[in-house]
Amino acid sequence: MTDCLFCKIAAGEIPSDQVHADQEFVAFRDIDPQAPVHVLVIPRRHIASLNDLSAPDADLVGRLQVMAARVATQLGIAEAGYRFVINCGAHGCQSVPHLHLHLLGGRQLGWPPG
Ligand code: AMP
Repeated sequence: MTDCLFCKIAAGEIPSDQVHADQEFVAFRDIDPQAPVHVLVIPRRHIASLNDLSAPDADLVGRLQVMAARVATQLGIAEAGYRFVINCGAHGCQSVPHLHLHLLGGRQLGWPPG
C-alpha cells in the first residue's frame, strides 16, 4: 500500500531501528517505547487490522508470533517474561492501520492493562 507508514518502514523508505527482518516480517523498535524492550513486529504484506484477517491468514499470524517469540529470546527477555499486544480499532487504541504485534518486556508489566 503506497500511503502506509509501516509499509514504508518495511520497504526501507522510512528509517527504523530494526532488530530482525526476513522475507515475510520486519521487527523494529517502537519510536515511543512503553517498556525497556518495545518492539513492533509487522508482516510485509499490508493487512490493516485483525478485522481484515481471513482463514488463509492463520499460518501467517502463527509465524508472526513465532518470530516475535524468537525476537524476545534474541533480546534477552524470554526467561523473565514479556507480553504480546495487538491493538484493533478505536476502542483497542490502534493508531497505525497496518497489523502489528507489540512485544513488551524488560520490566515487570502491570495487569489488567486498563
Ligand atoms: P498502535 O497504537 O497499536 O497502532 O501502535 C502503533 C505504534 O507505532 C505506537 O506504539 C507508536 O509509538 C509506533 N510508531 C509510530 N510511528 C513509528 C515509527 N516511525 N517508528 C517506530 N514506531 C512507530
